[in-house]
Amino acid sequence: SATLEIRGVSRRFGKNTAVSAIDLSIPQGQMVGIIGRSGAGKSTLLRMINRLIDPSQGSIFFDGAEVSRLRGSPLRRWQRDCAMIFQQFNLVPRLDVLTNVLLGRLNHRSTFSNLLGMFTRAECAEAVAALERLDIARTALQPAGTLSGGQQQRVAIARALMQQPKVLLADEPIASLDPLNAKVVMDSLQDINLREGITVVTNLHTLDTARTYCNRIIGMAAGKIVFDGPPEALNREA
Ligand code: ADP
Ligand code: ADP
Repeated sequence: SATLEIRGVSRRFGKNTAVSAIDLSIPQGQMVGIIGRSGAGKSTLLRMINRLIDPSQGSIFFDGAEVSRLRGSPLRRWQRDCAMIFQQFNLVPRLDVLTNVLLGRLNHRSTFSNLLGMFTRAECAEAVAALERLDIARTALQPAGTLSGGQQQRVAIARALMQQPKVLLADEPIASLDPLNAKVVMDSLQDINLREGITVVTNLHTLDTARTYCNRIIGMAAGKIVFDGPPEALNREA
């Protein structure tokens, strides 16, 4: 099974060190919650894993391959194996929901053709099935920007599923949502983790959410890991 290995990873922005010499090993199938105050480096860490940004130092491996060195099509392959969802959903608001979900397949293409007619019937059916699984298939033909925040985050999860990922990163996925929608989104991430065995690594700012959903909690402060263990261990310390 495929482990995500982070070895000696640091990231500086000018003189500011956002992430400082982090080592982490995350086996396939874990559901990991990263907690810490704003500015602790959580988002920078996730962005380095899927190569939205590069480390200043150190290496990241997945399944033995050094993802922090990939270029070209192997990098595109990693970015499809490693899906990401964001606090602000990052959908294309004017495009309909179904097309937004199908965009999860773009990295499966070796060349770009025009978008129209680009997706097969089977892919469209798969996108509808993903929307059904998240209970929002009735919104398929609406512009994504007209949906509620909770619905938009579910669209983003459906788009991530279309990537057929091995790892799913979530950067504060419920920070903009009301409690009911937050629960639906966290339940969905947990279901994906349990049913598909997809590794889920999510930044959260409330400890309660991490305790409820994650089997491993990583605490970050000032770019460093200050806690790493199961929720029970955290309860003992607190
Ligand atoms: P968190 O996700 O825990 O809130 P971040 O990873 O977003 O923390 O930020 C960690 C530190 O790095 C903060 O001091 C932040 O201001 C800084 N930082 C993050 N991204 C950038 C950037 N693109 N340019 C400069 N500084 C950044
Ligand atoms: P987060 O939700 O992780 O706290 P932020 O709101 O801190 O994210 O950052 C949003 C965007 O601004 C990101 O692209 C981040 O890289 C960038 N950013 C954060 N801090 C700084 C900074 N001090 N200087 C420049 N860009 C920053």
